[in-house]
Amino acid sequence: MAITVDDGYQDFYSIAWPILKKYGVPATFYVTTGFVSGDLWLWPDQLRYLLTKAPQSQATFDLGLFHIQTPLSTDAFESEFWRVNQILLMADDADKLQCLASMARTWKVELPKRPPEAFKPVTWDQLKEMQAEGLEVGGHTVTHPSLARVSSEQARNEILGCGKMLEKMLGNVTRSFCYPNGTPDDFVGEQVQFVKDAGFSCAVVAFADDGEHHQRYAMRRHSSSSDQFQFLKAVSGIELLGMKFRRHHLETRYE
Ligand SMILES: [Zn+2]
Repeated sequence: MAITVDDGYQDFYSIAWPILKKYGVPATFYVTTGFVSGDLWLWPDQLRYLLTKAPQSQATFDLGLFHIQTPLSTDAFESEFWRVNQILLMADDADKLQCLASMARTWKVELPKRPPEAFKPVTWDQLKEMQAEGLEVGGHTVTHPSLARVSSEQARNEILGCGKMLEKMLGNVTRSFCYPNGTPDDFVGEQVQFVKDAGFSCAVVAFADDGEHHQRYAMRRHSSSSDQFQFLKAVSGIELLGMKFRRHHLETRYE
């Protein structure tokens, strides 16, 4: 059992790691290398930032992939964020970035080059420090696209570029990989091969089901939450047992 955290935010260093270290919990932190290097900030954060700057006037905006009505009330903010997030998640990576740029242009919002404080990445020095203390720093691509929504060449560059950067900054050690988004649609055979080619020892997805927990390049993960009961269910194995039981029950029912 291990605890994994994705993306590369600063609060892993300031909040999570001191606790994991104190209790000796095996952990992997999957980082988006372009984010840590300061070349980009993650698109869901850009979306959130843009939505906070939505015009106060009453209007409907056609942003290509979706329409949005302003002003956004405080009550509607989270649901609008998740609605648009889901649409962008399914879009082609290039279309998605273009849509965010057009949103910024239409609303005359300047997107800062570096992420604002709330969305800050961890630094390479902090990663080095945590690695020396026992953390595994894993790969999570260079720019965090869904690997199934970019060209084959881009997917290859995202995976190999990430591996090379980690090796350059943190040394040549065995690491695992985490597919961005991580649903069954976000990784296919070819991308799995790129992950192997890049030298990653294994890879994790972002869902759990009743089987295949030991599939080396698609290792399942149980999601946690701030709800302690859900957390205990996941780490104790009860959740997995429940999934297996339900499957067994279905199989015997239809035999
Ligand atoms: Zn991620």
